[in-house]
Amino acid sequence: MAELRQYKLFIDGGWRDSTGGQSFETINPFNRQPWATIPQAGAADVADAIAAARAAFIGTWGKMAGVERGKLMLRLAELLEAEADVLSVLETTDNGKVIRETKPQMLFAARQYRFFAGYADKLYGAVIPLDQPDVLDYAMRVPLGVVALITAWNSPMGLLANKLAPALAAGNCAVIKPSEHASATTLEFCRLVEKAGFPKGTINVLTGDGAVGQMLVESPGLNRISFTGSTGVGRRIAEIAGRNLVPVTLELGGKSPNIIFEDADMNKAVAGALAGIFGATGQTCIAGSRLLVQKSVYNEVLSRLVDRAQKIRMGNPLDPATEMGTAANEPQFLRILDFIKGAQSDGARLVTGGKAATEGELAGGFFVQPTIFADVKNDMKLAQEEIFGPVLGVLPFEDEAEAIAIANGTRYGLAAGLWTQNINRVQRMVRAIDSGVVWVNTYRAVAAQAPFGGVKESGFGRERGEQGLAEFTTTKNVMIDFSSQERDPFALKT
Ligand code: NDP
Repeated sequence: MAELRQYKLFIDGGWRDSTGGQSFETINPFNRQPWATIPQAGAADVADAIAAARAAFIGTWGKMAGVERGKLMLRLAELLEAEADVLSVLETTDNGKVIRETKPQMLFAARQYRFFAGYADKLYGAVIPLDQPDVLDYAMRVPLGVVALITAWNSPMGLLANKLAPALAAGNCAVIKPSEHASATTLEFCRLVEKAGFPKGTINVLTGDGAVGQMLVESPGLNRISFTGSTGVGRRIAEIAGRNLVPVTLELGGKSPNIIFEDADMNKAVAGALAGIFGATGQTCIAGSRLLVQKSVYNEVLSRLVDRAQKIRMGNPLDPATEMGTAANEPQFLRILDFIKGAQSDGARLVTGGKAATEGELAGGFFVQPTIFADVKNDMKLAQEEIFGPVLGVLPFEDEAEAIAIANGTRYGLAAGLWTQNINRVQRMVRAIDSGVVWVNTYRAVAAQAPFGGVKESGFGRERGEQGLAEFTTTKNVMIDFSSQERDPFALKT
């Protein structure tokens, strides 16, 4: 067996083992073999990382001109692009996501650092005219300080870029905690941070299990927590943040409706439905896991979908020809299979898939067949709970009103897809749907400029775009009285 890669924590610009000396092995989900060891941070590491970030915020990074911050971020973007091949191989090895997804994700991460670098020297405030002519008032946009960034295993580098790029542009320092199931690329990324020349302590990475995340969010000295993960853990973090009065951004789960109307361009719509649920093996918060299809085209859509789903090429996620990779880890693999069993006993009609895929080279990995259930009712568990796997529920609907009722009938509100040629219908549906993102005649499309985030139990706050930057700044208002008048000390001055 090849030797395991040994990773270390990245704290205060240096690499170190955890203070307790503990580490764990991380598994390649394609062959179930360990391939690297990751340190399990302890309480002292958490405290050191926060202290290092605070020192950098007060000192080097916090005092650096925006233009210089921007230059470092641009350098980081260049390095990320140059290393996209290496990093995407590592991320695919770590979480089983196909290389044709992880490579563009690395490039998109670089795009985000580049996009936000442009803001670093443009954090304009406002001069505010007041009622008194002899008072100058201006509002500054200032960074928050030290931010804790916690990410999930499905897209470690992509999720990190959503948070870290705006945080750095705004002048914050970060303590990052990736998932224990996929930590390697976040640590590799720190090599690029070093190479780019970021001051020590600006960016720190703690690895380990959920307990490390919990220690981090419970620690004093944080000015924001930005979390991507499950609704359950998000709720727990919000409770802790509430107690400590730390602002929090939550990017949580989804059960997104992808809605095909009878007037849709069917080729595009079917491809969009497939992308929505089988792209990234369905392990994405924005998975279009509920496919709503108008009754008049229901049979046609279903048969085309099943036909294509059965031809999806599964295999080594590192092979560029592979279309669908593995479940990212064993607990997730077992959870998906469990959901499938549950859906069958709840009476959903299985039309394709439904099992672990075990032919040939698939036998060694956490592969699940692309799975489609038809005639699903919206109150079934399959339609209400996030599975985070390649499992689609197809629901028929009669008209717009029914589509809206089904679409909004979950606790989530992350994304929605609409497939129609009717511009008036688009407007009506966009207004009626409760979600933070609506795609029309496209699905799972992202842009650095476009804000992203959810409503309801999919979370709050936004990432990407100007709104993403706003999460990492606050306003400081300055009022300067340059009149020579003495004031009445006992009256409110207006
Ligand atoms: P989890 O909520 O289990 O974990 C997310 C992160 O939180 C991981 O780093 C995890 O560490 C850490 N964590 C776990 N427990 C705690 C705790 N008590 N306190 C602080 N941190 C903790 O989510 P999953 O990893 O299972 O990811 C899948 C979920 O993420 C899905 O629900 C999905 O929808 C959501 N997601 C949302 C996105 C969005 O933008 N809205 C995008 C992508 C995913 P560890 O893994 O080591 O336990």
